[in-house]
Amino acid sequence: MHTVMDALAELMKEQSYDYIIGITGFETVFCALMPVQQKWLRNLCKERFNDLVEIGSFVSFGISYYDSIIDTINVKKGGETDLDSWNLYGDEYSRLNEMLDTIASKLASRFDGISIPATLHGLAGKIENVTDYYGRTISHRAVAERAGLGWRGKNGLLINHRFGCAVRFASVAVTLPLDASEEVEYACGDCTACEDACTFIKHRVVLPDYRENCRRYIANLRKKGLKKDVCGKCIQACIRNGIHATSFELRAE
Ligand code: SF4
Ligand code: SF4
Repeated sequence: MHTVMDALAELMKEQSYDYIIGITGFETVFCALMPVQQKWLRNLCKERFNDLVEIGSFVSFGISYYDSIIDTINVKKGGETDLDSWNLYGDEYSRLNEMLDTIASKLASRFDGISIPATLHGLAGKIENVTDYYGRTISHRAVAERAGLGWRGKNGLLINHRFGCAVRFASVAVTLPLDASEEVEYACGDCTACEDACTFIKHRVVLPDYRENCRRYIANLRKKGLKKDVCGKCIQACIRNGIHATSFELRAE
């Protein structure tokens, strides 16, 4: 009989992308979530919630972007921002999310699990405040962090040793006691590459919630022609200029 990890690895290998997989306890994740996300997760799990807390696990998995897509972000052409180029990154973001959602559904249906979609689509300009996101899903980064797939960087993203923060994630909860992976130590050190690239990250300690500044910035870009709710400058900064830039191994297309 296939284990969850074997089945997931098979599904991931069907894509021509590099991937990472980790496991953690359901309760470990639940305790790490904001109260509003705990409520959302409890409602999602319904009558299975107690069993999940008792013996369940979270499977976290991510797909890495190709190396070349990183250079499509925030390109200047003739003094103007090249939105056509930036939209290539947005298209790839959607492609990865779709792949992850498909894999998450297949895995969940095979092991009677509960899948959490990779993202909430197209809300940046429709909500009033970034806090409106919080009660609509759970943080895949919180799951991935507990599942040993990386540390939480200064840019708020999960930094994986191989693929940096150029990774999209999804998660599936299963009522099975799986062996948890070990968490990874924080390793941003003195690096400031993402802070240098984004003033909101740089001033995140004094801003009420820098993620709201981020949301507004992206909503503004959407009005100018950006197709998806993604910016990616903080990913690009980490991958190209961060202290671990030379050790990342993003696949060439
Ligand atoms: S996505 Fe863009 S605006 Fe948001 S934190 Fe990253 S660099 Fe800053
Ligand atoms: S750019 Fe540097 S400080 Fe920012 S997340 Fe990456 S490693 Fe950490």
